Amino acid sequence: MSNDKNSPAPALPSNFLRAIVESDLAAGTHVREGMPSVITRFPPEPNGYLHVGHAKSICLNFGLARDYQGRCNLRFDDTNPAKEEQEYVDTIIDSVKWLGFNYDYPQADGAVEHHLHYASDYFDQLYLMAEWLIQQGHAYVDSQSAEDMAANRGNFNTPGTNSPFRNRPREESLQLFRDMKAGKFADGEHILRAKTSEDAMASPNMNLRDPAIYRIRHAHHVRTGDAWCIYPMYDYTHPISDALENITHSICTLEFQDHRPFYDWLLHTLSQGGFFTLPVPRQYEFSRLNLTYVVTSKRKLRQLVEEKIVDGWDDPRMPTIVGLRRRGYTPEAIHLFCERIGVTKADGWIDMSTLEGCVREDLDPKAPRATAVLRPLKLIIDNYPEGQTEECTSPVHPHHPEMGQRSFPISRELWIEEEDFMEVPAKGYFRYYPPIGDAPGSRVRLRHGYVTECVGYDKDDNGKVIAVHVKYFEDSKSGTPGSDNYKVKGNIHWVSATAAVEAEVRLYDRLFTDAQPDAGGKDFISLLNPNAKEVVTAYLEPGMAAAQPDQRFQFERHGYFVADRVDSQPGKPVFNRIVTLKDSWTAK
Ligand code: ATP
Ligand code: MG
Repeated sequence: MSNDKNSPAPALPSNFLRAIVESDLAAGTHVREGMPSVITRFPPEPNGYLHVGHAKSICLNFGLARDYQGRCNLRFDDTNPAKEEQEYVDTIIDSVKWLGFNYDYPQADGAVEHHLHYASDYFDQLYLMAEWLIQQGHAYVDSQSAEDMAANRGNFNTPGTNSPFRNRPREESLQLFRDMKAGKFADGEHILRAKTSEDAMASPNMNLRDPAIYRIRHAHHVRTGDAWCIYPMYDYTHPISDALENITHSICTLEFQDHRPFYDWLLHTLSQGGFFTLPVPRQYEFSRLNLTYVVTSKRKLRQLVEEKIVDGWDDPRMPTIVGLRRRGYTPEAIHLFCERIGVTKADGWIDMSTLEGCVREDLDPKAPRATAVLRPLKLIIDNYPEGQTEECTSPVHPHHPEMGQRSFPISRELWIEEEDFMEVPAKGYFRYYPPIGDAPGSRVRLRHGYVTECVGYDKDDNGKVIAVHVKYFEDSKSGTPGSDNYKVKGNIHWVSATAAVEAEVRLYDRLFTDAQPDAGGKDFISLLNPNAKEVVTAYLEPGMAAAQPDQRFQFERHGYFVADRVDSQPGKPVFNRIVTLKDSWTAK
């Protein structure tokens, strides 16, 4: 540390990966003709919808590329023909773009490089490299049964046993491999395995015990059709795809740490065959996002969809990117979240309230305010002339006068919240309550309207309060000189019963009641929050009829809401609650 007051403090890298990238940039580690010095990739398998954990990886990889004038490729790891579908490819592209990232890079000469890639684009090269590995004695065709192979692999305490086919002549392996490709065998009859060293089967790292690199799979592939009946394994495909795309920093989650020795061995070995531009990529691991009150495994998310526990992948309760989007989350809120949680190698849990706090923080300064009555109770202003209306106005945003004013009418009959009336007021309750004995009823201001005094209420045959009666003071209207003559403690929101827009509002909450629903083998299905979705018929201020799908508002007192992008009709929006105004969970 320098004590020299004049030297500027060094800009500290904000996480360990940035530190690595910066030191590589300083050392010129990845300087290559005509290529950026930072090339990352986001490599999803197209077997499901992306979730908030993927967003962390997307923001990290595309973010590094953006911040260091590099490039990030979107690459589909589509080597498993059975599980992959075009639907998933489409939604993943959509989600990456919605998050604000792009893989089209304009060049100095005006051309545009498209960096949308598929591992299946490399099937020919992958195959040729496999033949080369066989010829060099680095791979062999194993013909053991799957059971024998599993038994001979050993376990963490016991070294594995060499396959009886391990030392078969290279020419024999090569011929068998070609016959595998030609379709002469059934699934599982043979497999191609790498041989990283003579004693690899005794390696303490299970991933080095002659890992399978090609298997027979008579299956139709979304992109290559029936051209192949052998498919490369993930551990073989991934490093090679990285190297062919000239990736500099291959960033993955911690569980791949034990795969790194094979990654390095494979790229080092193949680079001796002249297959790649040097230097080859390096793999770095960071800890995956674990978020409380959700599950983030694609398999478990699929179960929720398939068992119709939620209404599809984009159900606003789902932690998928399409779900968050429909719920009303903004890309900016997700970026803020990813920045805030940082990138480390320490495994841990991030609380859902962090994500919720980010969307509040993003929306507070920009969401227009609106009035919504979610649990309506009729209010009748007895001395207000029937048929009369007057406009009341209010700022669209309390801190942003430039967003303008909104107006809404007051009339004789209004809707107020059920909770804004109590027959017998609790201590410190300043909203409506009726006259009791000689004491008059409470005085309450109808926000942006008049001061009123409660004079009575009606009940139905079941004893339920169905209307509150008040009288208003004509000289008390907000914004007029007379309004100052009234000092009232209660101030409530309301909408005109004749002008209100009736709308379906979905009050979403957390999907699970347990903070870690799938930890330690818990039955996550039994921990679903039965109150994660409540549908109410609400009354909204008239301007809300014009709300456009995806438009977000703060409904005063209630929280942030979005006009549902799927179910809203012109003039008839349906709203989703994104988040309440305050965190109601940490206190529970
Ligand atoms: P799942 O286990 O839910 O099926 P996955 O890891 O198999 O997810 P991929 O499509 O293989 O999903 O993931 C693409 C990229 O996203 C990988 O680089 C992976 O490391 C990263 N990723 C997946 N889940 C998370 C997470 N929870 N946090 C951070 N990164 C993640
Ligand atoms: Mg995976």
